[in-house]
Amino acid sequence: MINVAIDGPAGAGKSTLAKAVAKRLGYIYVDTGALYRAIALFVIQRGVDVYNASKVAAMLPMIDIELKYVGDEQRVYLCGENVTSVIRTQEVSAAASAVSAIAKVREFLFDLQLEMAQNNNVVMDGRDIGTVVLPNADVKIFLTASAEARARRRHKELVEKGHDVEFEAVLKSVNERDEQDMNRPIAPLKQAKDAILLDTTELSLEESEIALYNAIKDNLPRR
Ligand code: C5P
Repeated sequence: MINVAIDGPAGAGKSTLAKAVAKRLGYIYVDTGALYRAIALFVIQRGVDVYNASKVAAMLPMIDIELKYVGDEQRVYLCGENVTSVIRTQEVSAAASAVSAIAKVREFLFDLQLEMAQNNNVVMDGRDIGTVVLPNADVKIFLTASAEARARRRHKELVEKGHDVEFEAVLKSVNERDEQDMNRPIAPLKQAKDAILLDTTELSLEESEIALYNAIKDNLPRR
């Protein structure tokens, strides 16, 4: 199976680009952030503190997460319920970042991610795919952009989805999330040594997609 790992900070356009490129390659796109978001949602809904590692870990046996594909659309099911869109709020983003720092949470999601990659040609996006989940991925990309550029994009996306948020608030949350994701002791966000760095600050979405596609195509093993 061919495995492409794409890591990078929040709002670098990973999901949009990875999805588009997976489609062009005919691979399955796996958005691993959605898995952390689903756990975060479960924890929030039960009023438990997302920073309380032992309480969150104790809830894991109650959590059942499934990924399903309808066409090229990934759907996330939490205990049988489709939560694909409700996990996209700012509240869940912040909570996902918090629960993702818990070792037991990462262990819990590890097998599911590995299984997807073993059974399918995948473009998998996340924070630790090239470093931890798929260290032997065929191609690794580290996709990034400046914090302002990322916040601008995330803000536009949220507004388009009908959320009423200020740009400053989005920038703040992007910075907080980066800080949290890069400085956690387990599986911190960092570029794998053998990953290709792609900075999309100055690129349009279309240009970024071409750059990403070419970077993958040029580095896929010849078989
Ligand atoms: O990619 P997305 O923004 O949906 O991810 C939500 C949060 O989940 C991130 O801020 C990060 O803390 C966490 N995450 C992670 N490892 C991954 C994917 C996401 O820690 N592979």
